Amino acid sequence: MTSDAKGWTKFGWQGINMDIPADWSLGAISGDKKEGYLRLDDADMPRMEVKWRDAQKGTPALPDVVQKYLDDLVKVVTKKKVDIKTENGFDISKIVRPLPDRDKVIQGFYWKSSTKAYGMATFCRECRRIVILQIVSPIDTDVRTLISRVFSSFEDHAIGGADLWAVYDMNFKVPSEFHLKDQKLMPGYLQFSFTREDDSFALDVERWGLTDVLLRELTVREWYEGQYASRLKGNKVSFEEVELHDHTCFKVSGETGRWFHEWRLALEKLTRSKTPTHMHSVFWHCEESKKIFVVNMADRDPINAIVSYVASHVKCHENETE
Ligand SMILES: [Zn+2]
Ligand SMILES: [Zn+2]
Repeated sequence: MTSDAKGWTKFGWQGINMDIPADWSLGAISGDKKEGYLRLDDADMPRMEVKWRDAQKGTPALPDVVQKYLDDLVKVVTKKKVDIKTENGFDISKIVRPLPDRDKVIQGFYWKSSTKAYGMATFCRECRRIVILQIVSPIDTDVRTLISRVFSSFEDHAIGGADLWAVYDMNFKVPSEFHLKDQKLMPGYLQFSFTREDDSFALDVERWGLTDVLLRELTVREWYEGQYASRLKGNKVSFEEVELHDHTCFKVSGETGRWFHEWRLALEKLTRSKTPTHMHSVFWHCEESKKIFVVNMADRDPINAIVSYVASHVKCHENETE
């Protein structure tokens, strides 16, 4: 619920983010932070493709990167016996104002077939990512304003040490050392699972819809205790009420029992892996958006600031006071 009045919203994935029209939604996604692909569609057609990968040494030759991209496209289109005209080196600054920040090398391109597309390949000297973006549109539509806003707002690395994740009207920030390991994107339930490289403790950000049904006969705390019973079982758990996002939220801390510590030490000797001893959750019901948000992390530390940071950086409803 983060779209603005003019129908724009933020999209964020793997450190890449930009403004997009609110009626564009995720059509395809693959890869990870190092290399990946995604596509955004409107109700009628695919509208935007984004490809990214980490560059090898030195400064890559973006004209060659774009040429390869266009050559691949021409191959596909020619097979379908459709004509295509391409322009590698299209002056994108004619449309996009301002261009993304000065620390990037930019190569514009354009193609025209039964549809048309404006594209931009970028290399960022700071994060060393190569990104190719293109926006496709019907042939007779003036899309200059659209392209300018999307490309101008494009960012390819985290600002302030946290990545913005924004998809399906979910919008939150996670410290950049966490990598997305798994995601579940279902109509009534979104789950994003992250881990760090130096341990394998999971940080989960979840959003449940259909709260009219879920909370018909339960308080949100009763629902949480039922839904996450296995997580809570065997833990010494405490619940604390905190104010966040204009809601009363619950902060949960749990510590595994003594029997578990003994078992854990034995297991760690055998496997040389770390096992978590604590769990930390923050959860709340957002009445405005009719959603339940749950942020949870397994940890070895009785104190955990990450869960609180992520919970406070979830945008749960529009016009919430900062
Ligand atoms: Zn960058
Ligand atoms: Zn809310």
